[in-house]
Amino acid sequence: MPTSEIRAQYQTVIGLEIHVQLLTNSKIFAQEGFSFGSLPNHHVSVITMAHPGALPSINRRCIDHAVKIGLATHCQINRNSFFARKNYFYPDLPKGYQMSQDTDPICTHGFIDIRTESGSQQKIRIGRIHLEEDAGKSLHDQDPHISMIDLNRAGVGLVEIVTEPDLRSAEDAATLLAEIRRLVRFLEISDGNMEEGSLRCDANISVMPVGSETLGTRVEVKNMNSFNHLTRAILYESERQIALIEAGGKVVQETRTWDVNTQKTSPMRQKETADDYRYFPEPDLLPLGLTEEYIEKIRSEIPRLPQELYLEYTESLQIAHNEAMTLTEQKNFADYFEAIRKLTPFEKEASNWLLGPVRAWLNDSGKEIGDFPISTEKLADLIRLVQEDKISNHAARDQVFPIMLVRPEESPLAIAGELNILLESKQDEVENAMIALMNQFPQETTRYRSGKKGLKGFFVGHIMRQFQGKASPREVNDVVERMLG
Ligand code: ADP
Ligand code: MG
Repeated sequence: MPTSEIRAQYQTVIGLEIHVQLLTNSKIFAQEGFSFGSLPNHHVSVITMAHPGALPSINRRCIDHAVKIGLATHCQINRNSFFARKNYFYPDLPKGYQMSQDTDPICTHGFIDIRTESGSQQKIRIGRIHLEEDAGKSLHDQDPHISMIDLNRAGVGLVEIVTEPDLRSAEDAATLLAEIRRLVRFLEISDGNMEEGSLRCDANISVMPVGSETLGTRVEVKNMNSFNHLTRAILYESERQIALIEAGGKVVQETRTWDVNTQKTSPMRQKETADDYRYFPEPDLLPLGLTEEYIEKIRSEIPRLPQELYLEYTESLQIAHNEAMTLTEQKNFADYFEAIRKLTPFEKEASNWLLGPVRAWLNDSGKEIGDFPISTEKLADLIRLVQEDKISNHAARDQVFPIMLVRPEESPLAIAGELNILLESKQDEVENAMIALMNQFPQETTRYRSGKKGLKGFFVGHIMRQFQGKASPREVNDVVERMLG
């Protein structure tokens, strides 16, 4: 492996081909549905089996979804596109060809902005987005002697999103993939679930000397279904290519796979040229013609997208990058936050509640925000109680919130009353306690007055302990500050 000085002389270049499984009730050219994990070969019709004479017809939903992702990524939506046959020996696609789009895809020339944690923002161009069908699955680990085939997935609708070679690091590539996952989830065109293969990607990777304008020869690493695999494969492959070049060799254009066990890429096949597929227009399907009206209708169905929400959260609400990313990771989570924002002026506090106790509950229970028992109204009430100093933040989190989880129809005010933790104004008592305290600690008082402002906590702590949580922290703070000052 190359040393870090050698590595620094090379620039890695990456282009991704991302497959997104479309969320639909039926397959792209056949009526049967599909769901992950169902019994093998239970979602298979004569069309999927390629019986002679069985004819495909296109699922309109798939077209809607492709146009939606195209619009959301600033693509040109082509009014005319058509399907082509991509001929190949697919053990898990009985037709012997894949119905895909070749020369005339449905969307072209778009872009996605990515923002890495380091704050840099980059425009990644999208060359094309096309529709195609998924293949079934060959199962090599069910029997020691034979491979088995499950055709449930064969014919499920996909969009393939192809980026230009604009990515410059494994981190960029992972960020782009995450961005696409957020986007397809917001658009509700896919569940974006990588473990179940709804989102997979191929990475095209090359290296070139830093400063060069000529891209190196690329290697395509196939079918990765996790961020970890993608990142590691890119790091491994760029090092392999650098070492090869440094040793006087040449990178050959080929397709490789990522081997999870060895953590290495290994050759699969030499890159087939497009001609090998003998593409020709699909005779069993009409070309797609999209009207202006149809495209506008799809545009009107696009919700506010994560990037727009992100900007609003970071700019107007002063929410940090990572937190804004978390709030906008899942649509229903962002929807909950948006709903609660309409109910409370304390938006930053609401975000703290969502990112803290609510998310902890989601993680612990393994559930989704859709299953979260507390309504936005009740949570907004709880936030208001804290902000109006009716209960302390501590008590709200540790005492009221857990009870609300099991008795969500009750008001937080009633629960706090029952727990006897409502704070009443204790101004006089706190003032008296403070006078006593200042007499007891004259040195601390003087030191505070000569600039040791940190000593405020000393007084506040004393009084809070004295009142055993029954005084409002805000009130205590106010009194202490006023009397010391
Ligand atoms: P093909 O049609 O043979 O798959 P494309 O030109 O469509 O080839 O490119 C496929 C993918 O490879 C795209 O994501 C593109 O960005 C990427 N790519 C092309 N050239 C390079 C390169 N030199 N280095 C890295 N990625 C590349
Ligand atoms: Mg390719």
